[in-house]
Amino acid sequence: MTILVTGGAGYIGSHTVAELISRGENVVVVDNLVTGHRSAVSAAARFYEGDIRDASFLNRVFAENEIEAVIHFAASSLVGESVSNPLKYYDNNLLGTFSLVSAMAGHGVNKIVFSSTAATYGEPERVPIEETAPTRPESPYGETKLAMENLFRWCDQAYGIKFVSLRYFNACGAHPDGTIGEDHTPESHLIPIILQVPLGQREQIGIFGDDYRTEDGTCIRDYIHVMDLADAHLLALAYLRAGNSSDIFNLGSGTGFSVKQVIELAREVTGHPIPAAVSPRRAGDPAVLIASSGKAQQVLEWKPRYNDLKTIIETAWNWHKEHPQGYGD
Ligand code: NAD
Ligand code: UDP
Repeated sequence: MTILVTGGAGYIGSHTVAELISRGENVVVVDNLVTGHRSAVSAAARFYEGDIRDASFLNRVFAENEIEAVIHFAASSLVGESVSNPLKYYDNNLLGTFSLVSAMAGHGVNKIVFSSTAATYGEPERVPIEETAPTRPESPYGETKLAMENLFRWCDQAYGIKFVSLRYFNACGAHPDGTIGEDHTPESHLIPIILQVPLGQREQIGIFGDDYRTEDGTCIRDYIHVMDLADAHLLALAYLRAGNSSDIFNLGSGTGFSVKQVIELAREVTGHPIPAAVSPRRAGDPAVLIASSGKAQQVLEWKPRYNDLKTIIETAWNWHKEHPQGYGD
């Protein structure tokens, strides 16, 4: 039996594929390479280049492989872009998922693990954020992810397709063996942007606002290592294989770091002074986002191994300094 990974050439997908392969799973990857990289995909996985919105392409993939379950990463995921171009997000995220779940229903596949996001919550009333917190997304990105979760809920009821929705907080870091890492164009995430300074690719890091109601005035986020995320997907798969019911889990470390703290740790790791300058706030940034991940730890028995942000940044730096141009494609 085979696991189908959509978006398996992307950042989190490629690390999850590597982890699935290392644990002896058969893996098929579907990716249109719009933001992903062919060379990020383990050579042991079967690769299909194509779009999940293409029903005949997907039917061929399902017909040619004995798919047991799907892990679904393929999506567009830039908050700002989703605000300026919401139709792209409804098309790729919602119609893409509609097409994927239609193929699953047509081929009798009844398990899916899904990349959701902390952006489904919007500005939290309380932190750490629990799964029961209200969901009030503040962007079409978060809104389409929430709509995808709801699509799964109804398809579970109607067709018995069981799902686990994983609401990630801030994914970061790279594979400890240094072979794969984060390569987004444009890059929007804080840690790889900071590391562009010691790489000589930018002069300084802009801090988006230092007048938030936090100790040092900069935003606080919950940074979680990509290998811990990968591990959670395998546990979610095991949870569904054991016949458990559909559910939603937060994935974060439960600890928050401010933008200034992240920059300071990056200075320690790289030995570079990394100049920083305060710039205006970025629209829609909540002051503090920290996950309560107790549910994933209790129910899935998930134990994040990278609890130390300095070690997380070290794994990212290890990848970036060896691959200053990313995958170079
Ligand atoms: P990514 O852009 O690196 O990976 C997405 C992959 O999906 C890419 O390889 C892309 O080519 C592929 N893809 C997109 N649309 C497709 C389509 N229609 N058909 C086939 N392939 C398609 O992104 P990532 O950072 O690895 O994120 C993976 C998932 O996790 C996304 O769904 C994202 O919304 C979610 N997520 C990411 C973060 C984060 O911090 N990176 C946080 C929360 C949630
Ligand atoms: N950030 C920043 N400068 C940058 C990029 C990000 O100050 O060049 C801040 C951003 O405002 C947020 C935090 O860093 O408070 C993490 O941002 P990222 O885009 O990595 O993740 P997000 O919080 O949007 O999921």
